[in-house]
Amino acid sequence: MQGLLLFAYEYIQSRQSLPKFLGFGILGVCNYFQTTFDFIHESAYFYAHSKAAKPNPVFTSEMTDTCILGSGLTGLIHAWQACKRGEKINLFEASPQTGGVLQSRRIDGYLLDYGANTLSLRSREVATLLDELGVLEHAIDANPEANLRFIVRGGKLISLPHSPASFLSSSFLSPLGKIRLLLEPLIPRGKNHAENVADFISRRLGQEALTYAGNPFLSGVYAAKPESLSLQYAFPALQELEQAHGSLFKGMLKSKKNPNRLPTSRLLSFPNGMQELTNQITQQLPKESTFLTTRAVRIKRLENHWEVTTRNQSGKDELHTFNQVICALPAHQLSEIEWVGLDRAERMEDLADSTHFPLALVFHGYEKRNIKHPLNGFGFLVPEVENRKILGTLFSSTLFPDRAPQNHALLTTFVGGERQPDLVYLEDDDLHALVQKEHHNLLGTHGTPAFQKIIRWPQAIPLPDHKMGKRQEAAQVLENQNPGLRFSGSHLCGPPLPNCLLASIV
Ligand SMILES: Cc1cc2nc3c(=O)[nH]c(=O)nc-3n(C[C@H](O)[C@H](O)[C@H](O)COP(=O)(O)OP(=O)(O)OC[C@H]3O[C@@H](n4cnc5c(N)ncnc54)[C@H](O)[C@@H]3O)c2cc1C
Repeated sequence: MQGLLLFAYEYIQSRQSLPKFLGFGILGVCNYFQTTFDFIHESAYFYAHSKAAKPNPVFTSEMTDTCILGSGLTGLIHAWQACKRGEKINLFEASPQTGGVLQSRRIDGYLLDYGANTLSLRSREVATLLDELGVLEHAIDANPEANLRFIVRGGKLISLPHSPASFLSSSFLSPLGKIRLLLEPLIPRGKNHAENVADFISRRLGQEALTYAGNPFLSGVYAAKPESLSLQYAFPALQELEQAHGSLFKGMLKSKKNPNRLPTSRLLSFPNGMQELTNQITQQLPKESTFLTTRAVRIKRLENHWEVTTRNQSGKDELHTFNQVICALPAHQLSEIEWVGLDRAERMEDLADSTHFPLALVFHGYEKRNIKHPLNGFGFLVPEVENRKILGTLFSSTLFPDRAPQNHALLTTFVGGERQPDLVYLEDDDLHALVQKEHHNLLGTHGTPAFQKIIRWPQAIPLPDHKMGKRQEAAQVLENQNPGLRFSGSHLCGPPLPNCLLASIV
């Protein structure tokens, strides 16, 4: 949450004429809701940054034969870096393409992102890295209309406040809920270091802020409930701010400006969707060093090197040797690999232990005239208390250009997560019908969609929950005890793309 807080702080600083406290309270709150998506991304970045600042001590410049397992964004950045250091690399990827969960497809004139939809660019460090990678110049910014965000309350879409006046007039919280939120500076410091995010939000900002803001936003980002997320791992900066200053609002006012923060944050994608990011990085790697449809099945530690067994599509095994192995596989894949000769091998269980909830992405295309709502924003999120069957919907064709054929709109809807995991596995027709009904009620859609498609992620996003500390510790122990082995990926640095980018920099 540090990103959000710094954002609000800077916003207030630029409006010195306002009485300080009132300015902070109202503008901070408006910013809170306006930038939650982006902010969550940045807050976790601070962890990634600190991890990136501590390269594995067992890696030395003499290690020149590098094996990278997994070609998601994390593995690709490691590969790109190793090439830059002049190392000979082999990148093994189980699927037929690079990019991991970043997958974009153009079908019938619609551009679908099966995984991440946006990259939130808030820090100079990430901007510099994207620039060095040569991808920043290809990025496109989200439509400014996407600044408007909605939540569902009482069965209707309510726009979130974006100015002091709209904070007062908006019905996103009741008058009592707003007063409670503004009382935050008077709430005493928390004492429970292992607090979950739900308890933290309700204690500091009130139950209504948890119900109508924390709950929907966190389900939108992690497909999880705030009760399941650890404050310490999901928002370490917030916890520090409270402990240091006794209040988030006060802390924000006292905190120094972060020089690494870009003056204006950007919400990015690419003309051909998010996969263009990983495609561009892939193109910079030596072609002969990338092996697709090649799964790592066995990793053996020998005296001075590593033996990696890979299996190709036709089931043929091959043996390779390397000085070092960078394992950028998802946590849930680590136990599929046979690890041989590892020191402290018992810690592998903790490293592989990650909570993921299943998630379905349901894409519907409509002729614009068949949607009553103007789709003038980022999308909407649904608080659990509203008892609906969807977590939220992105107005994808408002967010970025060329996402749908002319006079058509593309809606990307998230279903399942921790709230209703069973819905993910409904028959396709039932899942489409369910989403269609929700859109009819909430957006005023008519008839059946002109286009529809479902993507299911059985293990979508690794949660920063109470297990994350154990995972990080296990990775550290295994790396220290097994020279030449390194673990990396969203299960260790947090899922936002900026985290994966920065955590992969050695
Ligand atoms: C639906 C969804 C929406 C998201 N939305 C956003 C968003 O809007 N913004 C944002 O910042 N983040 C978002 N994220 C999070 C972000 O996309 C991920 O955290 C990040 O892309 C993870 O990258 P990674 O390289 O760590 O892992 P992955 O992308 O999972 O890559 C791991 C790779 O390892 C490969 N692999 C697995 N087993 C083997 C094996 N045995 N041998 C070889 N290869 C193997 C896999 O095939 C895969 O390519 C989203 C994630 C999901 C799932």
